[in-house]
Amino acid sequence: MTDTPAELNVTRADDIALRPSDGARTRRVRRCGICRQVGHDRRCCPSPEAVEERRQRRALQEQRHQRYLQDQAEIARQQEAERQRDQENGCRSIRLQNHNNYTVAVYYRMDRPGWERRRGNNIYKSFRSIDSNGTYGIKVYSNTIIYIIPEVERLSYIRRYGGSVWFNVDLYNGHVVGEYVMDTFETNTLDIISHEYEAPKPVLDQWKECALKSIYLLQQLERLGATNNDNLEPIMDMVQDITIPEHTYQDKEIAGVPSVMTNLT
Ligand SMILES: [Zn+2]
Repeated sequence: MTDTPAELNVTRADDIALRPSDGARTRRVRRCGICRQVGHDRRCCPSPEAVEERRQRRALQEQRHQRYLQDQAEIARQQEAERQRDQENGCRSIRLQNHNNYTVAVYYRMDRPGWERRRGNNIYKSFRSIDSNGTYGIKVYSNTIIYIIPEVERLSYIRRYGGSVWFNVDLYNGHVVGEYVMDTFETNTLDIISHEYEAPKPVLDQWKECALKSIYLLQQLERLGATNNDNLEPIMDMVQDITIPEHTYQDKEIAGVPSVMTNLT
């Protein structure tokens, strides 16, 4: 749809008729938004309805403030009640401090009939992991029992039995960093420390060790003249075809296989 020149002309003519001429334009006068009077704005309008509106707004603000104060007081009362209840139940806060050079996994259970009935006393619940030299605050009861194992052991437990929440000590045969009965626990810091633990070798290292040992033994067979034996010769030919991936002297050391380094001694 296009405007015809005739229509455009009409519109233009109307505009001109309604618009005041430049000479007649006056400065815009600010008027109060409530009473339309000049000389003040709606925030300080002296009209009765504006005064009443401001009074109501102040009353509402005051009401809200009072309610806020009441809420704060209620929260404080509840916190105090909870603290008292905790004290009566023998609940207190302690800090777990992991002094080991490895991450530990923290489990707990409650030594009470309800826990035993529902889950059994061999079942612990996962709480959290604490990094090497890390600390963590925890609330305990006198009947809380804490069970701590290395994080790597937790991961292999999960791989083996699944489920990252519940932990069955009867199935577990890895290293136990410690079992702590809070009932007999005096201080507010639990020092987690266990020197005997040596983290298991990564699977890749285990395979390297296995492969390097096997290759070494096959090489010994060759050295002992297996290639000259008609029955063993075809097998020894195939041994030649085994490619040994890149590895270091340290790898051989770890595998317990004689290397250049050990040959020197
Ligand atoms: Zn006004």
